[in-house]
Amino acid sequence: MKIEFRKITPNPTPFLLEREGYRCEGSFRKLSQKVVEITFHLSAESRLQCDRCASEYEHVIDEDMTLQIADGRFEGEDLDVIEFFDHVVDFDAIAVSEIETVRSDYHLCPACKENQGE
Ligand SMILES: [Zn+2]
Repeated sequence: MKIEFRKITPNPTPFLLEREGYRCEGSFRKLSQKVVEITFHLSAESRLQCDRCASEYEHVIDEDMTLQIADGRFEGEDLDVIEFFDHVVDFDAIAVSEIETVRSDYHLCPACKENQGE
């Protein structure tokens, strides 16, 4: 799902993405001329590999997120702003990149988590 920046208004607009492997539901609104804020709940199933024992396991992502999206280069202090350079907000790209961020975190399988601290 892609929406042009210029079509986004200061009033929160609800959205829902249902894709194979993930679901994303929330709303977006314009914060300023060049910045849009998206608040949503992300649920996804992801196969992770344990960083300790290397076994694979299913992980369910179930998180509330708030992200700021800039139309072009963002000249501010906040480094967490996601920049798009073609004047559209690509919601699928945002969801996929958030899932990738979770995947690339350090994580342990349930068994190692249980044994943690031994
Ligand atoms: Zn493990």
